[in-house]
Amino acid sequence: MPSVYIKTYGCQMNERDSEAVAAQLVAKGYTLAAGEATADVILLNTCSVRDLAEQKALRKMENVAAEIRRSRPDVVLGFLGCMAQSRGQELIDRLPDVDLVLGTQKFHRTADYLDDILACRREKIVDVAPEDKSEAAIREHLLNGNANKSVTAFVSIMQGCNQYCTFCIVPYTRGQERSRTIPDIVAECKELVARGVKEITLLGQIVTSYGKRDIPQKDGKSPFMQLIEAVHEIEGLERIRFTSPHPKGYGDDLVEAYARLPKLVESAHIPVQSGSDRMLKLMHRGYTRERFLGIIHKLRQVRPGIGVSTDFIVGFPDETEADFEETLSLAKEVAFDQAFIFKYSPRRDTPAAEMAEQLPKETKEERNQRLLDLINGIANRKYQTHIGEQMEILAEGPSKRNEARMMGRTRCNKIVVFEGSERHRGQVMDVKVIRAGAFTLYGEPDVLNDE
Ligand code: SF4
Repeated sequence: MPSVYIKTYGCQMNERDSEAVAAQLVAKGYTLAAGEATADVILLNTCSVRDLAEQKALRKMENVAAEIRRSRPDVVLGFLGCMAQSRGQELIDRLPDVDLVLGTQKFHRTADYLDDILACRREKIVDVAPEDKSEAAIREHLLNGNANKSVTAFVSIMQGCNQYCTFCIVPYTRGQERSRTIPDIVAECKELVARGVKEITLLGQIVTSYGKRDIPQKDGKSPFMQLIEAVHEIEGLERIRFTSPHPKGYGDDLVEAYARLPKLVESAHIPVQSGSDRMLKLMHRGYTRERFLGIIHKLRQVRPGIGVSTDFIVGFPDETEADFEETLSLAKEVAFDQAFIFKYSPRRDTPAAEMAEQLPKETKEERNQRLLDLINGIANRKYQTHIGEQMEILAEGPSKRNEARMMGRTRCNKIVVFEGSERHRGQVMDVKVIRAGAFTLYGEPDVLNDE
């Protein structure tokens, strides 16, 4: 059977989609190639959130076509995902070596289309049409290619977004919000737990909007809350996370859930984007600075040690120095454990790209650096405060930087590296923190709870 190599750009949703496509192909008999040099099929799962991501994928495909397709003309080349969705046929017009272009509602069609191309039944395929129920088609898992290896897994609960933030291309590439049913998601989670998974992250562009249009409120609880409770009941599951919520959907029912659902770990990634109300309005975010700070305050009252992270955009059109200082002051006030900063990048067909007051590159760079310095300084100090603490971790596997060591994650989502071994994988155990580095803690081996 042919071998396939999938390169993924972008967010966790894309990683998850690629994993599901790979698992579907493996189930059909394909093998997974270690790299593009040996693959019979090379697929790029693309991201459109920033221009840089699109340019990277285009350059990659140009190189693959020049270096690999020329020497092995039978190799099949394809684009999947967001850029495939937004550019469609244009990609084949620009890069005639490409055989397949599949949009964000077509991942589950990859195997059938590849079969057709490999059997020479069809030459070029472009399919970016919407497809009913495609949100339920992202459910297969590789679990690192070994049924018992991964102890954490992402479960896609919905696709799309209806928020239409003025900077964001996602509602155009991923479509309107479409949610899977609770029983379907719970069944997938149960299968994962039966295969050894201990921690599940519920995944969607805007998870707090889960089921809003299809699932009625029950006992005053939102569909998302109902889903968390249903997943919480799964025996053998140790931890639940979710990403990404939207501040406007962070209701009191969700805040209060942290107090009563022990498997819901004390960690929250809540994208704020800006500390300036004027910017938040121009971005069409749907909340104010005060509302955001109120959520953080309530969460910390319920779970004082909660780890809080966020996303920021700097250099949005018409962002003044005063607006940016509001962002700096919010970052200081919240004292995030981690933050991802993005320099605003205009995306075609989005309202912000048409705004007149685009900022120069230098301003974006300078603000990015100032915010980064502030965030890193705060996070560094916060990590230091954990030294000497006993923290619960879920041991996930060997550390990426040093395979001789193991790594786990605290409930508040901090990575802890420790001198363990394979037998610790999947264990929920306490370690004593002895050292802190940049976004990594180091645990004391002699307090490991071995069995
Ligand atoms: S909430 Fe806004 S930023 Fe997030 S996916 Fe939707 S439109 Fe994009």
